[in-house]
Amino acid sequence: MSAPLAVWWVKRDARLADNACLAHAAERGLAVLPVHCVEPSLMAADDHSAMHAQAGWQAVTALRGSLRARGADILVAHGEAVDKLAKLRRALPFTAVLSHEEVGNGLSYRRDLAVAAWCRANGVDYLEFPQQGVRRGGINRDRFRRFWLSRVSANPPLEIPEIRTCPRARQLASATGFPGLGAFAGNPGWQPVSEADAQATLADFLGRRGLRYRGGISSPNTALEAGSRLSPHLAWGTLTARQAWRAVKARLAGLDPRDPDTPRWRRSLAAFLSRLAWRDHFTQRLESEPELEFRAPHPCYRDIPYENDPRLLEAWRAGLTGYPLVDAVMRCLAATGFVNFRMRAMAVSFACHALHLDWRLIHPHLARVFRDYDPGIHLPQVQMQAGVVGWNAIRVYNPSKQLADQDPGCGFTRRWVPELANVETSRILKGDIPAGYPAPVAPFAPRARAMAAILYGIRKTERARAETPGVYARHGSRRPERNFRPRKPPQPPQRTLFDELGE
Ligand SMILES: Cc1cc2nc3c(=O)[nH]c(=O)nc-3n(C[C@H](O)[C@H](O)[C@H](O)COP(=O)(O)OP(=O)(O)OC[C@H]3O[C@@H](n4cnc5c(N)ncnc54)[C@H](O)[C@@H]3O)c2cc1C
Repeated sequence: MSAPLAVWWVKRDARLADNACLAHAAERGLAVLPVHCVEPSLMAADDHSAMHAQAGWQAVTALRGSLRARGADILVAHGEAVDKLAKLRRALPFTAVLSHEEVGNGLSYRRDLAVAAWCRANGVDYLEFPQQGVRRGGINRDRFRRFWLSRVSANPPLEIPEIRTCPRARQLASATGFPGLGAFAGNPGWQPVSEADAQATLADFLGRRGLRYRGGISSPNTALEAGSRLSPHLAWGTLTARQAWRAVKARLAGLDPRDPDTPRWRRSLAAFLSRLAWRDHFTQRLESEPELEFRAPHPCYRDIPYENDPRLLEAWRAGLTGYPLVDAVMRCLAATGFVNFRMRAMAVSFACHALHLDWRLIHPHLARVFRDYDPGIHLPQVQMQAGVVGWNAIRVYNPSKQLADQDPGCGFTRRWVPELANVETSRILKGDIPAGYPAPVAPFAPRARAMAAILYGIRKTERARAETPGVYARHGSRRPERNFRPRKPPQPPQRTLFDELGE
């Protein structure tokens, strides 16, 4: 008798290793038909771009190679998931749909609910498996750290099991159109996304590049090498945090205490591990409150009087603001899909604080130009850098100070702003820019000060003080140094602001 058939609905988990869907099928003796849907509704969303379509497609193309090497294959369907599952079931009865728990945008959330409803109505089991340290539906934040560790560090990553298939499933999968990557034109500047690339990037980071992680990730000149560069893999699911965690722990255990680099490796890898935890800390916010896609976490920061001048939005998007480092960052993102954390934070701060653009207006553009776009990290980070969270320090990044600190030789800036290729470093640093490059679209300091005054003004109101403990209790980090005491709310850290303004 042939084994019952389960559909493995491949979304952001195009990998064989550490895959709970495959492990479940193997444990239950189920035959598996991997199915991936290229969904028009998701592709039409304002946070989606060709860069994302190509990343997803590249990951699935690589997965197809790995499956074929094991005698299986993947069926790729062009259409909405519910329609495609219904059509498939008419051709080939299956008893279960297995997928990973995705924390995506509102569209993917509603799509998942629709698939669950379809399964219920059609007597198909729908099983979702976690792939992150995020609890479905929300969590008591006091327990988050322990919960996260139980997910990410308690068990080793799952081995690749034997994949059972059935001849009809294999035949259907092999017959589906697979137009090749040409259909999703790539760009040599985009980081490759596949399970094999994820493993190679992880090995290279732990074997060589990671030594410079601590101290190396703030500058756009060094972060390309010093950063792990695992973000597209974690975002697209070609790697799990559990795999990264395990590999780092093994590396730490293997360090030679006599090697003079060992203390530096230890510090760098500890810093990397905390960022792995931040990932899920932020994603848990969106999971707990999906409305955060459209509104600030703190109710008092939802009606900030932004100007939203379309001319300024366009200048920022195009990298034509007249602020060399901001322009370099925006152009680098458009071309490669990557800049480091500090430059992302500066791009948001500049847009919201100096150009007075609403974070909801700038979010879709940034999402589209991030190769590693992951709504669960992206939205909370954009809100944090915009200063609308309510308890974090409001950080205003002065682009001239950042240029002097992070790109003092102006190498990064010149590379992405060719108009400045022949301008002396001292002139660029002073803002003494010749004709041929735009004049500043808005004066930074007075506008940033005005927005900071608005944000701090909100923070000081009675209503904000009353609401902050509740919002913090729901979403705030419980790291010891950030312990929040409801009786004594954090004081507005004016000093941070003016430091960043360079005053
Ligand atoms: C406005 C803004 C938007 C962002 N949007 C995204 C996004 O859509 N997708 C994304 O993966 N990262 C996002 N980040 C976080 C961070 O900038 C990137 O993860 C990092 O630059 C990727 O480089 P890396 O893989 O070398 O990171 P590493 O420094 O090596 O970090 C390892 C991993 O930890 C996670 N991580 C690192 N920093 C953070 C952080 N501050 N918050 C949460 N998780 C973190 C990422 O998964 C990253 O791959 C955003 C940051 C800002 C300021």
